[in-house]
Amino acid sequence: MIPGGRLVVLGKQGAGKGTQCVRLSHHYVIPHISTGDMLRGETKAGSELGLEARQYMTDGKLIPDGVVLKMVAQRLDQDDTRTRGFVLDGFPRTVAQAEGLDDLLDPASLDLAINIVVPTPLVLRRLASRRVCEDCAAIYSTAAPPRVGWICDVCGGEVIHREDDTEAAIHKRLDLYEQETQPLIAWYRIARKLVSISGVGGPDAVSDRLVAAVDDHRSVGAFGVPLPSSRTVDESDAVDDEASHAWPVTAGPSERSPEELS
Ligand SMILES: [Zn+2]
Repeated sequence: MIPGGRLVVLGKQGAGKGTQCVRLSHHYVIPHISTGDMLRGETKAGSELGLEARQYMTDGKLIPDGVVLKMVAQRLDQDDTRTRGFVLDGFPRTVAQAEGLDDLLDPASLDLAINIVVPTPLVLRRLASRRVCEDCAAIYSTAAPPRVGWICDVCGGEVIHREDDTEAAIHKRLDLYEQETQPLIAWYRIARKLVSISGVGGPDAVSDRLVAAVDDHRSVGAFGVPLPSSRTVDESDAVDDEASHAWPVTAGPSERSPEELS
């Protein structure tokens, strides 16, 4: 039997986080829990939580930790997550949310927080070719378009190039992301739950690195410190990469990850 897992995946826009979460979900037979998808679902269904979330978005405010935590708590309480685990996508965003997640999981705990690292020039290239479904937010690219025209394979919505996918706007969002996420990444590093993986290369190469990192971590036990693995670095994938390395979880809080140096 394939062992499940309790995973969090972090990564800036363009890191391929969504794609890799789906792949991890299939590989370990664990539900992919995307808080973005859940919020869209709740909003569409007009639930109490959805209406509350929409109000914050309409007001241009971040949805408070408590609202997101309530939604995640409901989802984690279902049978599939209880028995198999999960891969969380888009959550936690803050240290407070990460602490809330720990409380929800207690007495069990998170297995691993995986940070997918990509250099900014590569993100810019990826986002320039990115296309998004207006209705369900499914992601395509000029290299991997929908099957028919620019009609979404998932929901039939229109697939567009977002106006805010300009270089200046992307830089701004990336800066904001780094500011927001740095404390969270440091928090997971101190908790010895963090592994940073290069997101450079094709989706298959990146998935292989992620799976190797999870399996390595499992092989040394939940509280062990994984040894640096040669399998998490693949030189052949580093074609357009300025920083293609895997950073094992052994980095102490005083060391800076390439994420912080970029
Ligand atoms: Zn769609």
